[in-house]
Parts: sequence; structure tokens; C-alpha cells
Amino acid sequence: MIVAIDGPAGAGKSTVARLLAERLAFRYLDTGAMYRALTWLAQRRELALDLADELAELARDFPVEFDEDGRVYIDGIDVTSSIRRPGIDRLVPVVARHIAVREVMRERQRTLGEAGDVVIEGRDIGTVVAPRAQVKVYLVADPAIRARRRAADQPEIAADALATDLRLRDEKDAINMRPAEDAIEIDTTDLAVEDVVARIEQLVRAHAATA
Ligand code: C5P
Repeated sequence: MIVAIDGPAGAGKSTVARLLAERLAFRYLDTGAMYRALTWLAQRRELALDLADELAELARDFPVEFDEDGRVYIDGIDVTSSIRRPGIDRLVPVVARHIAVREVMRERQRTLGEAGDVVIEGRDIGTVVAPRAQVKVYLVADPAIRARRRAADQPEIAADALATDLRLRDEKDAINMRPAEDAIEIDTTDLAVEDVVARIEQLVRAHAATA
């Protein structure tokens, strides 16, 4: 079974998806980490971020890998923490908007998602990567809350700067970010992580019962 969890940054996707996967004993695939890792490698190689074909080739030549603990590797390098830096946050949408790049990434995501039960989080999972996912959820939250959650992850950065970054990232990501028609929208603004996970778990169990 595939559980697709989409939505904007700070809506709670990663925390919820990770916990849900653990609870269900499903694998977990973080597609944002893949775009982040590619951006990191492009930076390291000083590749201009407007070169769609070169970036797509880089993605093809250096497929992102995850180990059992969810650590992220590209070109044999563990980039798990480097890809979370704010500098990468700002640049990923520039890389991710190239269609040629997305095609390579989506293919790799489908391959990684293939082997059995999985929770996949991203922006376009329910719409494009896995349109036949059995459970699709789209998480949303109030922008102020989303910025606050980001601030908790990155206390070294001023809250207003984070709010601006988030708004700019939303604008850049908008083209690939929309709920699938059959996605269930959950507003996480006033919900505890546990409640969101429980709600999705219910959807999964309901689907399993009818399948
Ligand atoms: O989810 P996360 O914040 O780690 O994603 C980082 C960036 O990767 C997003 O802002 C977006 O530009 C890109 N992304 C994407 N499609 C996905 C997942 C992430 O374009 N499925």
C-alpha cells in the first residue's frame, strides 16, 4: 500500500509521515530530501541552477540513497544534516522547478516506493508520483504556525526571516503543490502530531479493511 502525504513546508509532513510509517511498520520515503541532496551536490560542483539538462543528468548519474536509519546519501556522501541548512532551503525550489529534473526524480521515487508498503511525503506524490496511492492526505496549516514550527527546528534564525523564507518557498513551489482530487485535507494548525497520525492511521486501516 502507498500512503501519500503532501503539503507545504511546516505543515507537519515529515514528523507525521515518519511516525506514521513507524506505527504501521511501513517504509518511509522523504522526496524533499532527494531534491535537497541534488541541490547540495549541484552547489558542491558549482553547477549553475538554471541548467535544467545538466541538473537532470547529475540527478541521473548520482541517484539519492537512503539507509535503514533514513540517512541520506548522494555520490557516496552522507548529506543528512547538510541538506537541512537554510541556504539549501532557499535554493531547492530553483532546482525542483525544472521539468527535466523532476522527471528523473519522480522515476527514482517510483522505484524506491515500489518495494511494498510505504509512506511517501512530498508535494506531488498524490497527483503525479503515485496517483494510484491508496491513501492520499494533504496537510495544511496556518502560515504563522508553520513559521513557528520551522523556528523550533532552526532556533538560530530570526522568526521573521523564517516566515519570509517560507512564504517565498510557497510561491516558488506553488506550481507543483496542490492536493489530488481524492486527497483528504487535514488542517494541522490546532492538532497535536499524535492526533494527525491517528487520523491517517484510521484512513489506512479503513482502506485495508475494504481491500
Ligand atoms: O519537504 P521539503 O521541505 O524537504 O522539500 C524541500 C523542497 O523540495 C521543496 O521546497 C520543493 O521545492 C521541493 N520538493 C518538490 N517536490 C517534492 C518534494 C520536495 O518540488 N515532492
